[in-house]
Amino acid sequence: MNIYFLDDSKLSGLMRILLGYGRVFASTEREVASNRNSQSGIFVRELTKEYLNSYRIPGFRAFDNFKSFVLPARAKVADYPDEKWIDIKKGKDKTILVGLKACDLASFAILDKVFLDDADFVDPFYKKRRESLILVSSDCTYSSDNCFCNLLGNYPYALKGFDINLSEIDGGYLIESGSSLGNKVLEGLSLPDAKENQISERDKKRKKVLEKLQKTNSEFEKAFSGPDILVSGAFDSDAGWDLGSTCVSCSACTNVCPVCYCFTLFDREGKKKEQYERYMVWDSCQFKGFSQMAGGMNPRFSKMDQFKNRYYHKFFRFFKRYNIYKCTGCGRCIDNCLGDIDMREVLSGAYAYSGKNK
Ligand code: SF4
Ligand code: SF4
Repeated sequence: MNIYFLDDSKLSGLMRILLGYGRVFASTEREVASNRNSQSGIFVRELTKEYLNSYRIPGFRAFDNFKSFVLPARAKVADYPDEKWIDIKKGKDKTILVGLKACDLASFAILDKVFLDDADFVDPFYKKRRESLILVSSDCTYSSDNCFCNLLGNYPYALKGFDINLSEIDGGYLIESGSSLGNKVLEGLSLPDAKENQISERDKKRKKVLEKLQKTNSEFEKAFSGPDILVSGAFDSDAGWDLGSTCVSCSACTNVCPVCYCFTLFDREGKKKEQYERYMVWDSCQFKGFSQMAGGMNPRFSKMDQFKNRYYHKFFRFFKRYNIYKCTGCGRCIDNCLGDIDMREVLSGAYAYSGKNK
């Protein structure tokens, strides 16, 4: 894979080329105001021509996840009574996502396993949206105390899964392509090859962020030593799960999670007489109604059972099915939990009683 140097002044040129492929949505440092307060942070927003010259790629993941580009929070899937699937034709316009971090790329690999890779269950809506994406990732230049990608076998920099990756160094970026489409984009920039000292500067920066992550998470390593973190017996016992008692079933954790994909369907009247529309909307296993069955039976009636289910799905059942954890270690669920719950601490507690540590 060739590595090139992109001078700072040429970043807008790269974005301009990407805009030629379709709409660009980029992770961006910005202030978000509501009628209650304002908050500055890193959020995803559309990058239109007016922002091109001032755009900088943030060194940390966005507050938002990118799953809504393949699994929107609400999307129409059918019209009734025709039972006609809507709009699954492939358009030529692309959706370009910029500033994804390695954990964001890892989330697409996990979602692909569920919605694309099993030939019997390909989701046509997901497929269409996924195939229209161009993924432009960048290295993390810092991590937070809630990041734990290293415990899931990931790194704070991307090694695969991108069309283009950028690594910030002095005066610009090292840039490399990971696909034929990425090659085509880079050809339009005529960039010089990266020098050896620039590559070693990148490697040093990567090492520094990784070492910080390893230090932050060293106390949790044992609980993530796999292959499967939890064993089924731990689900029946309450021992080790006490940290879950502050859960208020708000579903913030599943909404911000880039790999929580559970959804429900609902119908409503359409615009014409006797026409109905079917919608797919995000759901959450943290709601009591999620597992309720006809007749009112509910195998996960208590809040604690709902809480445990999220862990069991991610770290036991999903692993059994796909041989990978359903978690990237992005830490968004820890940042946003109203109950102040840290997934690493919960898993360490459950692990201590699971029999795996004997
Ligand atoms: S964000 Fe926290 S409080 Fe809310 S449902 Fe998830 S674990 Fe419970
Ligand atoms: S479970 Fe938490 S840390 Fe894991 S991918 Fe989801 S939001 Fe990120």
